[in-house]
Amino acid sequence: MSHPLESIYALQKKDRRLIKILRELHDIPQRKSDIEAQLSGSKQKLEIALDSRKHTEATLKEQELEVESLNEKVTKYKQQQMEAKTNDQYRAFVKEIGVVEEEIKELEEKEIQLMENLEQGKAIVAECEQKLAVEREGIADELGELDARVAELQEQAEKMKADRARAAENCDKALLQKYTRILNNKRDFAVVLVEPGGHCGGCHMKLPPQVTNDARNPTKIVGCNFCGRIVYNPAP
Ligand SMILES: [Zn+2]
Repeated sequence: MSHPLESIYALQKKDRRLIKILRELHDIPQRKSDIEAQLSGSKQKLEIALDSRKHTEATLKEQELEVESLNEKVTKYKQQQMEAKTNDQYRAFVKEIGVVEEEIKELEEKEIQLMENLEQGKAIVAECEQKLAVEREGIADELGELDARVAELQEQAEKMKADRARAAENCDKALLQKYTRILNNKRDFAVVLVEPGGHCGGCHMKLPPQVTNDARNPTKIVGCNFCGRIVYNPAP
């Protein structure tokens, strides 16, 4: 008669391959985000450059409005100056207008500086964007390969799940449960072969001769005394 562990052992080979694929699939999102993390430095620099440009633009806008309102003031003073009744009044307006015009001049000088800053800021933003684009391009292939790998692995996994489900149908139900329980617990192997010299193929401890013999007997299912994995000693 064939040994009941034969089909379980064959199932385990399929499960091992499936588990490997599922692990690789599980790790891919992390690998992708590790690759994307390479961009974080450049992204941050771009953000800072954009913030700084925005700040300069806002300040410039404020100053422009300020100049506008000072110019209105000058216009108003000039009208009032025309309507001055006395020389003293007239001179007072000349003085006032002079003060405001001085303010306008100062602000306009600042505006020129701000406009220069803005041009520099725009150039820095463009430089950061360019650098980021180059870096994105650099990782695009790697990310694309990983996406393709995901698709490939998913397809393989689906086929293998169907294949292992068919293989599981040929296994003894009680034995299959035991196998599943041990596999979930040990995470590597549930059924191990007896190694030459009578050692457990899982934990490599020396097995008692009785266990090594029983592991060959198709009417008996024995476990390793040390690690609890099912030991199998197929006829050579
Ligand atoms: Zn063992």
